[in-house]
Amino acid sequence: MSILQTINLTKHYGKEGNLTKALDGISLRVEQGEFVSIVGTSGSGKSTLLNMMGGLDYPTAGQVIVDGIDLSQLSDDKLTVFRRRNIGFVFQHFNLVPTLNVFENIVLPLQLDGAKYDKAYIKEIIHLLHLEGKEENLPGALSGGQQQRVALGRALATKPAIILADEPTGNLDSKTSFDVMGLLKLSAQRFGQTIVMITHNDELAQMTDRIVRIEDGIIKQRKAPLSHAVKGEW
Ligand code: ADP
Ligand code: ADP
Repeated sequence: MSILQTINLTKHYGKEGNLTKALDGISLRVEQGEFVSIVGTSGSGKSTLLNMMGGLDYPTAGQVIVDGIDLSQLSDDKLTVFRRRNIGFVFQHFNLVPTLNVFENIVLPLQLDGAKYDKAYIKEIIHLLHLEGKEENLPGALSGGQQQRVALGRALATKPAIILADEPTGNLDSKTSFDVMGLLKLSAQRFGQTIVMITHNDELAQMTDRIVRIEDGIIKQRKAPLSHAVKGEW
């Protein structure tokens, strides 16, 4: 069973006369542990797709099934809890809380959930993301790359099955982007997580297992990155 599946997923904004068909029947399966990148021009529906996959919004038609659960069958409250426990979000703007230090930002989702946290696991995340020694710093004192690594740490904190990343390196320079991508990939491998990432950057997409290209709300192309094709892995 796929960890994440969309079936004929459709999302329309507005109403008749002024209708935007942001998604027009997207069927996609993502297997556990896979790292999939979603590419496409601006306005093609990428963010809408990611938001639907993460249960941030309800589709107009079609389904999103995460780990066997049809998200459209969940009430608002149940969806919020489901999201918090199962999905880690990373955005282009790091969205850190400026008054909380690095450690506090990372454990924030766990505190919201009232859960006791595994200190060894948080330590491992901090180590993996090269944030040792920065635990007490406020986000304002960190570089962009460091801030995005804290945001990754926060997304990993709840041990979610799925990480959804919307242009996670969109605000970073090229070298830092590769570093952050490398760490994202490494930590997902370490913890068996599945990643779906939106990117404009073809070179970064090449680092993932599979590229899905979207145009006008439909899937135009599915392919393995060149690196895999060359190695005959696809
Ligand atoms: P992308 O992430 O590929 O840039 P989006 O998913 O943001 O694309 O947008 C797809 C289409 O849906 C665009 O035409 C956009 O203007 C429209 N759209 C996105 N969000 C909304 C919204 N909340 N209300 C109305 N239209 C929207
Ligand atoms: P940034 O590059 O985000 O401004 P740093 O100065 O912390 O921040 O990191 C510089 C480079 O060194 C990055 O590539 C980062 O991944 C790497 N790095 C930082 N800390 C460590 C570490 N403890 N072990 C290995 N590499 C690290």
